[in-house]
Formats: sequence, structure tokens, C-alpha cells
Amino acid sequence: MQALIAAIKVCRKCIMTETPQQKPPLSIRLCAPRGFCAGVDRAIQIVELALEKYGRPVYVRHEIVHNKFVVDGLKAKGAVFVEELEEIPAADAGRPVIFSAHGVPKAVPEDARTRNMFYLDATCPLVSKVHKEAEIHFRRGREILLIGHQGHPEVIGTMGQLPEGIVSLIETEDDARRYVPRSDLPLAYITQTTLSVDDTAGIVAVLQERFPEIVAPHKEDICYATTNRQEAVKHVAPGVDAMIVVGAPNSSNSQRLREVAERAGCGTAVLIQRADDIDWQDFEGIGSLGLTAGASAPETLVEEIIDAFAGRFDVTVETVRTAEETISFNLPRELRDPVPPAQAASG
Ligand code: SF4
Repeated sequence: MQALIAAIKVCRKCIMTETPQQKPPLSIRLCAPRGFCAGVDRAIQIVELALEKYGRPVYVRHEIVHNKFVVDGLKAKGAVFVEELEEIPAADAGRPVIFSAHGVPKAVPEDARTRNMFYLDATCPLVSKVHKEAEIHFRRGREILLIGHQGHPEVIGTMGQLPEGIVSLIETEDDARRYVPRSDLPLAYITQTTLSVDDTAGIVAVLQERFPEIVAPHKEDICYATTNRQEAVKHVAPGVDAMIVVGAPNSSNSQRLREVAERAGCGTAVLIQRADDIDWQDFEGIGSLGLTAGASAPETLVEEIIDAFAGRFDVTVETVRTAEETISFNLPRELRDPVPPAQAASG
């Protein structure tokens, strides 16, 4: 009888512990910092506060940040997204229009003024800093190289701070090797804010070797958020079986995080927008997963991914923090003072 009781006890113990053991264990290593940066946070706040202050619709030129979830959320609140100002109906010309966090060419606010539009600029202050550098180099008679990715809105905005043809784009080390200065002017370079830190260092090394006098930014143009998120991925990626970056395919900083994970030695490094995008075959048999999010991806999407894994694995989550972030940016004056739009000066 004693033996039977003992056997039953063992059995109950098995039953009690069996359910969680049916799922394979998975250790999730959560990169920190990840997700929203101060510039994205500010841009979203600008749209939300504009909707609160001026009512709907509020127009936004280009995706305010590169994230469909964020954009859809703002649409539901009354934001209307357009690619160009001319898409705004004449009847709504008095409604506020917001420029995205990536920045815009100078021609855009000029166009808005010509059309008597009331605009708010959500350009990240760290992008505006690069715009100012470009202008300073131009005023000081320097030939300007911009290290960045062709077609990215930030690059279009930065090149558009100066007359067409003034800024030359350098995308790769090969471009840097082949670059032929167009003048005898001293050279200077600036960069997109969301590049790979390592790739950019390689390009800069080539430029500095070829043009030792080239003027560099006083303070790194690649922003703190990009640098910190890449650093956290470098720390986590080599020790996990797979890595997920939550972010949009058109988000530069998210794409760079995926590349950083791959180069750090992680065999499976994927960029996905939502839990629905997970291809479970990629994660068969893994025991550890690194997880991060691009600067425009909200935390709720990270939680959604963890929940999806918890449905299939016995998950434990550990945060790996490699930097603290305390930066925040001021909102535009128009959203801080109570002056109604009709009386506020445009921009
Ligand atoms: S990623 Fe950097 S530059 Fe871009 S919005 Fe965020 S803080 Fe600004």
C-alpha cells in the first residue's frame, strides 16, 4: 500500500509538471534599449496633441514614423496621411499639416507657406542638427558628402537643405573609394542618423585615408538611439539561436539591427512587423531567442511577439540592458502655447 501511495504521488507529480513540460523551454533575451526613441516619441505626441488642440482632420506628410501600427492608430484618431502637400484638398488648406520625423527638404515648408498652410515640424532634432551641419559646411565653402541610403526620406530631406547637386551621396565603401571631388573646395562629410555604426566607420575610414583633411561632424551624426540599439544587439545576438527585430521593412534603423544581429553571428535574424508575420519554421528547435525593436516600433508589438512564443514554448524572459536612455525633446511652441491656429504664425 505504501508503495502504491508513493507511486500515485510520483504520478501526480508527473501530471502536475507535465503540462508546462509539453512545451519546449525558450529563454528570451530582451535587448534594452529597444523600441521608441525620443524623436519618434515626440513626433507621435505632436500628431496626438495637434488632434487634441485643433480637432480632426490633421494632415501628416509621409508616415510620421515608419510603423504601420502607429500610423493606423493615428489614422483612427483623425490623422490623414499624404505624400505631398498638393494631395490636401483646397477646402482643408487651413487644417494643420505635420512634417514627419525624418525631416523634409527646404522646398516643403516653402511650399506650405505659399499655400498659406499652417504646419508643424516633427523633424527629429537630431536630424535637424545634420541639416544645420550641411548648411554650415555650405556657407564655409566646403564640398559636402552625405553618407546614407538613396531614396530614404531622411536623405532626401538632408540633401534638400541645399540647392540641387550640392550634396553628393556616398552609400558604400566602394562609393568612397571611387569618389572624385567635383571642385578644389575642402571636403566635409555628414551622415544619415540611422546607419550601421560599423558600416559607416568603414566608409569614413576610406574617406579619411583618401582625404585626410576631410571635415568630420563635431559630434557623431548617427544618433544615440541607433547606436544604443545596435550595441544591445551586438551583445545579445552571438549567444542566441535566433534573433527577432520588430520593425517595418522601410525602417532604416530596424533593417540595420537585423544586419547587425546577422553579422554578430546569429544564424537566424529576421525583421517582422507583427506576431502574425512569424514563420514558425524559422524557430523550430531553438532554445534561446534575442528580441529587440527598431526605434519606431511600439512596445506593445514586442509584447505581442513574446505572447505568441509563450503559446508554443515555456518562455522565460531576461532583459539585457547595455545603456540607459534619458533623452527627451521639447515640443514645438505651437503645441505648448494656447494660441489658436488662425492667429499662430505658420510654422
Ligand atoms: S532614430 Fe535617432 S534620429 Fe531618428 S527619430 Fe529617433 S532619435 Fe531621432
